[in-house]
Amino acid sequence: MPIFEYRCRSCGSTFEQFSAGGGAGGTASPACPACGKSGTEKVFSVFSSHCGSSGSASPASSGGCGSGGFS
Ligand SMILES: [Zn+2]
Repeated sequence: MPIFEYRCRSCGSTFEQFSAGGGAGGTASPACPACGKSGTEKVFSVFSSHCGSSGSASPASSGGCGSGGFS
């Protein structure tokens, strides 16, 4: 189950939330657990950091990112 990271635009705090609540569409942003406001935006820093940012010259570019790295 994928976990998305959200950032509150009101207080700036970040939190993680499962995608089961809003669904794949993600139309409704979850409320901030810190201040309770709904002004949150989704961030993708978690997945992008693991795959290596802008890996244009990465040797293991073919299927190297995520999806069953343990072989
Ligand atoms: Zn907040």
